[in-house]
Amino acid sequence: MSAIGITLQPRPTDASVDHAIQAIVAGASSAETCNTDLASGPWDFDSRPGYGPGSSMGDVIPTGSPRQGELPQEYRDASEAELAARIVAAKATLGDRVVVLGHFYQREEVILHADYVGDSFQLANAALEHPDAEAIVFCGVHFMAETADLLSQPEQSVILPNLAAGCSMADMADIDQVEECWEQLADVYGDMDATDADGLVPVVPVTYMNSSAAIKGFVGRHGGIVCTSSNARTVLEWAFERGRRVLFFPDQHLGRNTAKAMGVPLEQMPMWNPRKPLGGSDAQTLDDARVILWHGFCSVHRRFSVEQIERARVEHSGVRVIVHPECPMEVVDAADESGSTDYIRRAIEGATEPTTFAIGTEVNLVQRLAADNPQHEIFCLDPVVCPCSTMYRIHPGYLAWVLEGLVAGEVRNRITVPADVADPARLALERMLAAKPPAAPAADWENAS
Ligand code: SF4
Repeated sequence: MSAIGITLQPRPTDASVDHAIQAIVAGASSAETCNTDLASGPWDFDSRPGYGPGSSMGDVIPTGSPRQGELPQEYRDASEAELAARIVAAKATLGDRVVVLGHFYQREEVILHADYVGDSFQLANAALEHPDAEAIVFCGVHFMAETADLLSQPEQSVILPNLAAGCSMADMADIDQVEECWEQLADVYGDMDATDADGLVPVVPVTYMNSSAAIKGFVGRHGGIVCTSSNARTVLEWAFERGRRVLFFPDQHLGRNTAKAMGVPLEQMPMWNPRKPLGGSDAQTLDDARVILWHGFCSVHRRFSVEQIERARVEHSGVRVIVHPECPMEVVDAADESGSTDYIRRAIEGATEPTTFAIGTEVNLVQRLAADNPQHEIFCLDPVVCPCSTMYRIHPGYLAWVLEGLVAGEVRNRITVPADVADPARLALERMLAAKPPAAPAADWENAS
């Protein structure tokens, strides 16, 4: 089994967040979870309007999003060991016909079956290494499966084991709202394709990888570009070479943290709230703006706080605090370092002396890093066990169901991006690849949430 990022070895300690939650619910652990419903199977929430328990439990799945059908009872009733055996058997039968991809934030019981483990863009690239595989099973969230579909061969099927595994941050930039925003900005700036005396257009749209294919397509059609959490600065520099301003979506925090580090003053970064006229701003502020930040955020990373960092420093002398740039600015400023999931992994694995790390990112990755690196003390800044709700919707039961479907000749839960969206979305991704600094190693741009 090969993996990007994490080598899958037997864990010295249990990396399973699910086991930790089951222990809490059973009263065998004094730890705290944000919702004891996490101990239930995700199928209990497939027919409900929200993402279910976890960090995104207050977020509602948008109308029109694909909905997961009922998972057959046999997969709900099967034990963890039975499901693992069925997955192993189905993968053995399918052989090279299938590739299973596992995002860093997936639960351990799914990751154990992944052929590749990484962030969303690493995994999309991993799929490219298998052009002959009939199916790519993407254990992640919806926008990741879309990106894999954009980059894979037309005859390959990209499968999302549970259709309810969306991303509440990606949902916050709806294509209709973005189109409306663009029209309102055109009312302020005039012709959006016209260049000024410096050869700059009024606005270049930049979208984070964590966005729908429709948004990537919008960006591609309007001269814009995609970024990841580790190449955001390179991409903003690319955009400022072409535009007077940047419209950045959906994650305000990544946009703000990156632009601030580049020296853009906060007063030149107004927020665009899609529910308000002119985004809640005014024409003068928009005229002065350098980066217009979409009102989006990640429900996982906004749980981290300055107070948690202060407490970690009090309780763990010499602790090294690393947070993800999707965290709020105050948290990034208070941390020792910030960086993508892969940056965090490399920082831990590169530490030559036993070190205490406090990490501000999704708990499944943190717990796995702790299990894989027993020479260090590694803990999640958030003391409450609260995984990403949307990632948590992928349970081994769904993985077994889609794999056994393939064995039976049935493609379940295929994700397909229509051609009119795919072509400009691919263009926006290609611009990102071309914007990569020539001397940079691949790991510097192959990172997303
Ligand atoms: S961790 Fe945040 S950005 Fe990533 S899938 Fe979950 S909600 Fe979306």
